[in-house]
Amino acid sequence: MSQMNHDASSEAGRLGLRADCAACFGLCCVALPFAKSADFAVDKDAGRPCANLREDFRCGIHAHLRERGFAGCTVFDCLGAGQKVSQVTFEGRDWRRAPGTARLMFDVFAVMRQLHELLWYVNEALSLPPARPVHGDLRTALDDIERLTLGSAEAVAEVDVAAVRRDVNELLMRASELVRAAAPGPRKNHRGADLIGARLRGADLRGANLRGAYLIAADLAGADLRVADLIGADLRDADLSGADLTGSVFLTQAQVNAARGDGATRLPGELTRPAHWREGAAPRRGGGRRGRVSGR
Ligand code: SF4
Repeated sequence: MSQMNHDASSEAGRLGLRADCAACFGLCCVALPFAKSADFAVDKDAGRPCANLREDFRCGIHAHLRERGFAGCTVFDCLGAGQKVSQVTFEGRDWRRAPGTARLMFDVFAVMRQLHELLWYVNEALSLPPARPVHGDLRTALDDIERLTLGSAEAVAEVDVAAVRRDVNELLMRASELVRAAAPGPRKNHRGADLIGARLRGADLRGANLRGAYLIAADLAGADLRVADLIGADLRDADLSGADLTGSVFLTQAQVNAARGDGATRLPGELTRPAHWREGAAPRRGGGRRGRVSGR
């Protein structure tokens, strides 16, 4: 099977979609709620700052998140939404100095996170040569979404994200089909499937449709997932040790962070191997939000 490479242009498009915690007002540590669980040591309501968030918007336990019971914080990825809201939408006014903006800022962050996720996917689809027949429509979608992210705070908060997602999803599905057509058949269709705890060790899942599949705690060790579509797949606690995910499409860093893996796991080039894989510590399932990729 020919290896499906994401071309270099995707990297430029996704540069602004990488979290820059230093430019953010700790929005994920304030705006989002979390429930006491294996991922979070305490309950926290939406809009209330985490007790570990310092005055300078840095995390006071960043180096010890997992040992202190905040593994969930190492999983979440805002995809650059935090710094966009902090520095662009609110032009550097933070919720501590301007508490009257807090509620709106947190609402905007929730919308912006979703818009940035769509931007991530569209950029990826634009990087895939086999998806060229839909690149024109994808570029239009990209421009439209970027324009939405640059609106006023009030305008962003009112964006109908579900409608945007619906339109973009059509394009992403067409892109996925074009890309996966190159994989040897028969290509398995597990879209939305309940594969929780499934034994898929060593499975040939090349070109499979795993969109939205529930793969929580699935054994995917050694599986061949090249050119598989993993958009929205729930990989929490899935074992990806030795699995080959090169060329898989629509896989995000947050999904990877939530899974288990090892030094033999092969990832798409734009994703990084989570530090906790090297440490051998597996993320555990639990309630509340999913955590964050890069701590502050
Ligand atoms: S990274 Fe987690 S523990 Fe640290 S301040 Fe943010 S929410 Fe709290």
